[in-house]
Amino acid sequence: MTQAVRPNLLGLSPAKLSSLLEGMGEKPFRARQILRWIHQRGELDFKAMTDISLSCRERLARETRLEPPPLRSRHDAGDGCVKWVLGTASGSSVEMVYIPEGGRGTLCISSQAGCTLDCSFCATGKQGFDSNLTAAEIIGQIWLARRELDSFASGAEARVTNVVFMGMGEPLLNFENVMDAVDLLLDDLAYGLSKRRVTISTAGVVPGIERMRGRTDAALAISLHAPNDELRNELVPLNRKYPIAALLEAARNYMAGLGEKRPPLIEYTLIRGVNDHRRHARELAALLRDFPCKINLIPFNEFSASEYRRPSGSSLGNFREILRQAGHTVTVRTTRADEIAAACGQLVGAVRDQTRRSERHRRREQAGIAEKNLIAGFGSRSREAATREGEAR
Ligand code: SAH
Repeated sequence: MTQAVRPNLLGLSPAKLSSLLEGMGEKPFRARQILRWIHQRGELDFKAMTDISLSCRERLARETRLEPPPLRSRHDAGDGCVKWVLGTASGSSVEMVYIPEGGRGTLCISSQAGCTLDCSFCATGKQGFDSNLTAAEIIGQIWLARRELDSFASGAEARVTNVVFMGMGEPLLNFENVMDAVDLLLDDLAYGLSKRRVTISTAGVVPGIERMRGRTDAALAISLHAPNDELRNELVPLNRKYPIAALLEAARNYMAGLGEKRPPLIEYTLIRGVNDHRRHARELAALLRDFPCKINLIPFNEFSASEYRRPSGSSLGNFREILRQAGHTVTVRTTRADEIAAACGQLVGAVRDQTRRSERHRRREQAGIAEKNLIAGFGSRSREAATREGEAR
């Protein structure tokens, strides 16, 4: 078999690994052994899997492969956070971040190289889109993080206790691969994480949330960011397709299907002068009045291609207070790892953009700079002419 068609066992869900081995005439328990070797002991060499018969090991080495994505670089922040840049088979690079906090260690992973959604405040979106990550490229992130953090060693502390799909990409637009990776994250023979500690964050892909029902019981986070459709259409263009009412309804149904009290997380990025006013807080409190949830406020993380600004401390405080007084549970996401550009919305990797979006954004940005320079320089030039000139560069 050629390299290209040899299946990469790293990304096979427990069910897919079992059926592959069954197809090879192997006993069902082989899958359990192999899962442990790969995901619990970090072994990539079939030869070392000594409790598996020699003939089976040789066949696996011939017909399959075990390949994590290549690690391109590692960046350690002073506060214990680590960012890694990984290569993808499609030629892009993506990023993941490890955030230790008390007894917890959260790994924030990517699901796509780039993103198709182009939310107005997100740096990943400005990069355009290259490809979906394969299941091996998704699960390969926790595999690499565990290796890098020395937690495969026997008796080592499991330093990754939580996984959030809050890196690059929209997980529900790469549904099957994300679900295969989630199966591995939750399986006791692989990473054995609790379903409450694996969170899928979505910008609001309603059909994806509907498909999650019955397929997984991982935790759900909704990137809401606005209390009404008009504003949300501007910030999250996907809202024009799936407006807030449909989104909250899908989330409510998913939660009801879990058969237990486990409210979703509502993420709300606060942007100065855009969605951080008291009236937005009151509107949000009213919108979520009968919607059990936890609200997570994220002060906007600035990046160079965006004119948006962080909210002031007082508007953040007021916003939180209004929600709290209305009876909501509210947390504020503190910014970590800013110095290594690893905060929310700052993960960009190097996307081989297949859309023309990154180019358009770049032109618009250059036009903006040119416009400012021209206006500053000549004063009398019309805004329109300056913009046209900037675009023609
Ligand atoms: N596509 C998924 C997951 C990726 S983003 C989603 O939208 O949920 C993870 C979170 O960070 C989302 O809530 C996202 O809206 C938020 N985010 C993106 N850019 C940000 C920025 N510049 N500052 C703060 N939060 C940001």
